[in-house]
Order: sequence, then structure tokens, then C-alpha cells
Amino acid sequence: MKKSSNSSDNWEDLCEKCGICCFEKIENDNGTIFFTATPCRYLDVVTRECKIYPRRFEIYPECVQLTETLVQKLNWLHDDCGYRKAFGLKRRT
Ligand code: SF4
Repeated sequence: MKKSSNSSDNWEDLCEKCGICCFEKIENDNGTIFFTATPCRYLDVVTRECKIYPRRFEIYPECVQLTETLVQKLNWLHDDCGYRKAFGLKRRT
């Protein structure tokens, strides 16, 4: 992986490459999110890396670009996500 002091690289370095966010999710009527065992078609399930990462928004527009605001707002990022941990976000009740 490319390393530099570029700020966007620093942001992306927060990702711990668990790949969990790249699995399909279902939300029930109560707003509870359940992760399925179905990965995004572009996730390499062995390496847990996106196979189209540099062009993901062009090829798959549904892919979400995480921002500081979104990380604090999204209800489907799990608590061990590197971005949530970086902001010290606690478990939701
Ligand atoms: S859940 Fe968070 S740490 Fe894991 S791959 Fe997604 S963005 Fe990266």
C-alpha cells in the first residue's frame, strides 16, 4: 500500500481493511442493521480489498465515500471500524 504524508492517504489509512462494510446489509422495521454474508461483487473476500478501488465510484456509484460527517452519522458502520475508533465513537444503544 502506498504511504505518504498526503492528507487523503492519512484519512484512508484509518481503514483497517476488515471489509465488513462491504457486505450487504438489511435494516429491519426497528432500524436495526443486520449484515448478510453477501459481499459486494467487487470485494476480494480473501484479501478483503476492493478490486476496483481507484475507480470504485465510477464503476459502482452506490459505493459510499466516507467522510468525517458520514462516519459520525451512518448507522451501519460497526464499532470496530477504524474510522469510528479514530473518532472515539461509542457503541450505539
Ligand atoms: S468497516 Fe471500516 S475499517 Fe473495515 S473496511 Fe470498512 S471502512 Fe475499513
